Formats: sequence, C-alpha cells, structure tokens
Amino acid sequence: MKEIIIASHNEGKVKEFRSMFEEFNVSVVSLRDLDFHDEIEETGTTFEENATIKAEAIAERFNQPVIADDSGLVIDALDGRPGVYSARYAGEEKDDQANMDKVLYELKSVHESERTARFVSVLAIAQPGKETSIVKGTCEGVITEEKIGEHGFGYDPIFYVPSLNKTMAQLEPGEKNKISHRSNALKKLRNQWDDIF
Ligand code: IMP
Repeated sequence: MKEIIIASHNEGKVKEFRSMFEEFNVSVVSLRDLDFHDEIEETGTTFEENATIKAEAIAERFNQPVIADDSGLVIDALDGRPGVYSARYAGEEKDDQANMDKVLYELKSVHESERTARFVSVLAIAQPGKETSIVKGTCEGVITEEKIGEHGFGYDPIFYVPSLNKTMAQLEPGEKNKISHRSNALKKLRNQWDDIF
C-alpha cells in the first residue's frame, strides 16, 4: 500500500486527507505519527512557495511522498492582505479575534460592493525524484461589517458566502466542507490523481 505523509500538525486536516485517500488505497501518515515536531519556517511570499517549502523539506527528510498545505484569506480592497500572513496578521500570538478586528478596522470605510475576498488553499505534493505538483482551491465571499456565527475558526465569522446567505461561521462543519477552499483543492487533487502520482 502506498503511503503519503501529510505535513501538518493539525489533526483535523489529517483526518480530511485520510478519508479522501481511502478510495485510492493510500495510507496517510501525519507528522505526529512520525514524531516530527519541528516547525518549518514559512519564508515564502506566496501560498505556493510556502506549501512547496514545507512539502519538499519533509519529503527530503523522510524520502517519501508528502502533501503540505498553505491557506489564508485574500481581500481585494487590501491588495490581497492578509494573504500568507493570515495567521499572524495582528501579531505573533495568532489571535483570531485580533486578526478579524484588524481587518474590520481596515475596511471601515469600504463599501459592501468593494469588500470581495476569497479563502485560498494550496496543496503542494512533493515526491522524491519528481517535480513538485501544486493544486489550488478557492472559495469566494464578502467581508461583513461585524462578526456573525460561532462555528469554524480563523476568519470564518467575517466571511459571508453569498450563495448560502450565511457567514462561514454560521455553517455546520459538513456544510463548510462542501464549499470550502480546502475541499475544492482536495477535489482537484482527486481529479488529477493519476497525473500526479
Ligand atoms: P494555515 O494554512 O492552516 O496555517 O492557515 C493560515 C490562516 O489562514 C489560519 O490561521 C486562518 O487565520 C486562515 N484560514 C485558513 N483557512 C481558513 C478557514 O477555513 N476559515 C477561516 N480562516 C482560515
């Protein structure tokens, strides 16, 4: 059975990959399974660069195929910020509330029609002796003027999804998984499976 390392410390993400890969008869190994706890510094300026840095570093270390992801929120009126800095937008503490407050403040005088944004998820697939492949999923939305909803994490309470007339934080996890940037990236990976592996 083929084995793939998911380069994430987030067990929720690992679980999503594990359920998807069952159909391909691939077993998923997490960094926790490998007892690997080092932080790989994300020194890139794009999601693609950061996902590639992570995937290639782990593939080299374990000489095995690796999938790494990088994700974040891209806001048009802020020239793409917070982007790759989404987790630490308001400081090193990775404080979701402070990050959202900063975005809402920066968009204070921006009209609804100009508050368009998207969540982006990039997956890099590194394999020893092969060129790294990239797939990208997005989810389009509009930044609200206040936080609404209790579910999810990160910027979900200020991300309104027009097609569902709800913020991401008002969606049940199952509903979010159907439309999220991450699930769109996973769908692309599934469709391109035979070309990539
Ligand atoms: P990472 O790629 O898991 O490091 O995520 C980077 C940051 O992007 C997170 O800390 C969140 O702030 C934001 N982010 C990524 N995906 C989501 C999401 O599904 N909802 C809300 N925020 C997200």
